[in-house]
Amino acid sequence: MTLHGDAYLKCIDPKCGLEYPIKSTNVQCEKGHLLDVKYKNKPSEKLKDVFAHRGIMDEGIIFNESGVWRFRELLNFCEIDTENIDECSNFLVSLDGAEGRQSKPYHMTRASAFIGTSSDNLWLQPEGYNPSGSFKDNGMASAVTHAKMIGAKKIVCASTGNTSASAGMFAANEGIQCDVYIPAGQIAPGKLSQAYQFGAQIVEVNGNFDDALKQSLDDAKNHDGYTVNSLNPFRIEGQKTIPYRALEYLKWASPDWIVYPGGALGNTSSCGKALMELYEWGWISKVPRIAVINSEGASTLSDLYNGKFQGEELRWNKGKPNTELIAEYYAYLDKEGIRPKTKATAIQIGRPVNILKGLRALDFTDGVVTSVSDAEMLDGMSVVGLNGFDCEMASGASVVGIKKLLEDEIIKKDDVVVGILTGRQKDAMLPVDYHNNPENKFAIPPKI
Ligand SMILES: *Cc1c(COP(=O)(O)O)cnc(C)c1O
Ligand SMILES: [Zn+2]
Repeated sequence: MTLHGDAYLKCIDPKCGLEYPIKSTNVQCEKGHLLDVKYKNKPSEKLKDVFAHRGIMDEGIIFNESGVWRFRELLNFCEIDTENIDECSNFLVSLDGAEGRQSKPYHMTRASAFIGTSSDNLWLQPEGYNPSGSFKDNGMASAVTHAKMIGAKKIVCASTGNTSASAGMFAANEGIQCDVYIPAGQIAPGKLSQAYQFGAQIVEVNGNFDDALKQSLDDAKNHDGYTVNSLNPFRIEGQKTIPYRALEYLKWASPDWIVYPGGALGNTSSCGKALMELYEWGWISKVPRIAVINSEGASTLSDLYNGKFQGEELRWNKGKPNTELIAEYYAYLDKEGIRPKTKATAIQIGRPVNILKGLRALDFTDGVVTSVSDAEMLDGMSVVGLNGFDCEMASGASVVGIKKLLEDEIIKKDDVVVGILTGRQKDAMLPVDYHNNPENKFAIPPKI
């Protein structure tokens, strides 16, 4: 197949390696493997200076204000002249430059005291200050850009809440339709209400997120919809800017760890891809280790990675992971009637679609995976609040995950750690209930 231009799609399975033109709408190769966006050209390290001079001072140039499109040379799948602002306007989809604009790492002293590390070594990066309230806007900007590039009339997603809020917001801004498949009754009302507010068509699915995703993929295929779940490789491109912003803020000196809550593993995958590319280009000389934090109630990756199922530790294994083991694990969940269950609904996912890209990211970064309880995540969420920052329960997993890995001496005392706080609070009753129970660690119950 002849491929034109610099950017193209390539299957992640090294044995398969099928390639597709950049305008392809396949989210998987024809054998069902995940795809990567690939670029033939190697971006010059001089761009670090270009990025440093782009910012909110560039009045009116929203693509320089945007925390995603500021880095547009590193995800230039539209193959545009990135300095030509008219061309940017014609191609790049943006919420007036607001996606990723407010997100950077912060020190949070109450959180570092709780975790038991020095404040200097701990950075937490709130992605909840994105326009729709979660990191999803980073990837939605790029996915909807691709949807627009190929002329899609409708975007489609399954969602535990934040994907639909983000997709709905972008679709309304672009004037295209948005269908959202949700597991009925399992979405935080604050997220569901956003999808309604932005005029998305809600489709209720009896079942969990994994069932909703399956149905949305079938319907997208049969009814000409463009899928914007993190299975879509263009979502992954925009989410690379989350680690870019952290690294840029740290003057491109790699931290020892980057820590994420793990759901469908889109974030894990995009962080891994970002680091692989930066390392290959010589932009970073040290690769930070990725730590993924599952909920105990939805611990597929943690179970498989740590050998808790059939005693085998699932690994990327040079592109030949034991996919049989994954299939057997899913069969076991089905047979035992085990459904993912956690109050942190954003990570209540039993079948992480990006698991193979996640394994690749963990392999490249010598990563680790662990799991934490609901009670722990609520403490993590609450201690972030005491610093004057807002985050949701799933994001609390990053905080308590770091604490746990420090206690287990996997993260060392002097390690520099960046934890990603993936979204802001949209489940209004969680903090109310938490603080009304005096037994909770950080509770400040009301006075009567
Ligand atoms: C989507 C989401 C996650 C899970 O991210 P993945 O990339 O699917 O692993 C975690 N936290 C929040 C707040 C989310 O919205
Ligand atoms: Zn393939």
